[in-house]
Amino acid sequence: MKVLVINCGSSSLKYQLIDMDNENALANGLVERIGIEGSKLTQKVDGRDKYVLSVPMKDHKDAIKHVLDTLTDGTNGVIASMDEIGAVGHRVVHGGEKYADSVIINDEVMKDLVDFSALAPLHNPPNIIGIRACQTLMPDTKMVAVFDTAFHQTMPEKAFLYGLPYEMYKENHIRKYGFHGTSHKYVSYRTAEILGRDVKDLKIVTCHLGNGASVAAVHNGKSVDTSMGFTPLEGLLMGTRCGDIDPAIIPYLMKEYNYSYDEVLDIMNKKSGVLGLSGVSSDFRDIEVAADGGNNRANLALDVFYYRVKKYIGYFVAAMNGIDALVFTAGLGENAPEAREAIASDLEYLGINLDRAKNKVRGKETVVSTDDSKVKVLVVPTNEELMIARDTLALVK
Ligand code: AMP
Repeated sequence: MKVLVINCGSSSLKYQLIDMDNENALANGLVERIGIEGSKLTQKVDGRDKYVLSVPMKDHKDAIKHVLDTLTDGTNGVIASMDEIGAVGHRVVHGGEKYADSVIINDEVMKDLVDFSALAPLHNPPNIIGIRACQTLMPDTKMVAVFDTAFHQTMPEKAFLYGLPYEMYKENHIRKYGFHGTSHKYVSYRTAEILGRDVKDLKIVTCHLGNGASVAAVHNGKSVDTSMGFTPLEGLLMGTRCGDIDPAIIPYLMKEYNYSYDEVLDIMNKKSGVLGLSGVSSDFRDIEVAADGGNNRANLALDVFYYRVKKYIGYFVAAMNGIDALVFTAGLGENAPEAREAIASDLEYLGINLDRAKNKVRGKETVVSTDDSKVKVLVVPTNEELMIARDTLALVK
């Protein structure tokens, strides 16, 4: 069966068509600037030139229609007709406490997703728009929702409760949810396969370091803690998000700068992190170049970022009473040997010994620890699309 995976953002949409008979991606695409002037679809197919379609796309339905037309196009497509798409898997950011697993989308699920929008106002609404657009264009095709929060639903209360009045959790669901769950699950299970071990016997710390970044503690195949929280703002410093700060800073900023609540939220989400500290960019590549060129603030931003990741590794080793594997994934984790070295060095007392020569690798599944390192350190490129497609296939079969 062929599964179409859709990941809808507010003005963009990523897609992949995967042949589940061999788990090969037939086509990989991105639609940008949906509803904005300059809409563009880019599709990549192995062995062919990149295909670019620049036409106005007024909304997500328009965008998905162009995706389907492109996939079935006689020249640029990869399938003869839409009938070849057996199911659609949608990435959904927030599944609340109700969804600890992926689910076939029906009316009740749609209602829940709308309810969870209050918990993820930036993310769930575009996911819902994408699902509705697909339902309109492919009314007879089964759809599955795969949640970013689901993998972390195994966290115990002691890990997910905040030190706020308990009623706030009971009445308003204020607790840690965690995100990037599909990625943490994929790389932790893949790590067990690479090491030839059963994931149920392993204590793994997974570091998803991209533009959004989080660390997770995966004990015996289950997430027991993670750095992101009620929203994806908590935890590590990120490209533009501040991560952990003293919550008292928020009212202080509002008072001192006369900022509104929305302005503070905007600063914490879009103007902070390594962008805010460096003043250079939210992209780690730009910051590394600036730091190499002697820019002190760029150096500082990297130091603060690395230090925070290292601290979370320490938290989670303590939480699991040990560690067997430390895993790096996502844009920075997969491609930046310098970042891995800065984070994983001086952790010998935990049994973590990075092999500097092996670590000079980019975007490739590799064990980068020394042969005698008690803790294995790995680079495992994430594949959230494949996880979504696998769950989708399992549910519709
Ligand atoms: P992601 O969100 O997983 O797509 O990761 C995107 C981020 O990964 C970018 O903002 C970059 O900061 C970082 N990144 C990607 N490639 C490299 C690289 N070769 N070196 C350093 N950072 C990289």
